Amino acid sequence: MNTQTHVLLAAAILAKPGKPARNTAVIVGALVPDLAIYTLFIWSKIAGIPERRVWSELYYNPPWSDAVTVGNSAPLYILILLIGLLASKWYRPAILLAVFAIAALLHLAADLPVHVDDAHAHLWPLSDWRFRSPVSYWNPNHNGDIFTIVEAGIGIVLSIILWRRFHALWVRALLVLAIVAYLGPPLYFGLFAQL
Ligand SMILES: [Zn+2]
Repeated sequence: MNTQTHVLLAAAILAKPGKPARNTAVIVGALVPDLAIYTLFIWSKIAGIPERRVWSELYYNPPWSDAVTVGNSAPLYILILLIGLLASKWYRPAILLAVFAIAALLHLAADLPVHVDDAHAHLWPLSDWRFRSPVSYWNPNHNGDIFTIVEAGIGIVLSIILWRRFHALWVRALLVLAIVAYLGPPLYFGLFAQL
């Protein structure tokens, strides 16, 4: 799924008002599996590499493919989760590590059913097995056009849940932006298609 949906999903399940440290761990955990992709994107822009080469070649080869695999490893986050839970018995704030790991695992669970050719080796380093779903979150050749609408629906529902829970103006402003990001492109292109 798209990064913003991962953040909204993790926040809707784990975030609580008035708990900034916990909520930061939730957001970082939801973002971290996609970190390698953003690093590659920014680096390629600085290095002036054409976008087509980035997503057809660099993304599928080391070191970028390795970085993506590490960031999407369920065993790694389960290990961090266990360390966080154990350590929190002696040092309470270590529970944040566990929260971070759960948010990352939610990201992996949400990605599993919607990746085809770009499926991740979620069991690395135990196995290189990849689940190739019939549904892609983006590729129209694998129902991506339908899932884009489904994802927008999920994202808007999650935004409404968070809107009701959080009253801070800046949080609500971000949620409005998220809804606009889901509705904007289809409305924009839909309108232009009518003209
Ligand atoms: Zn992802």
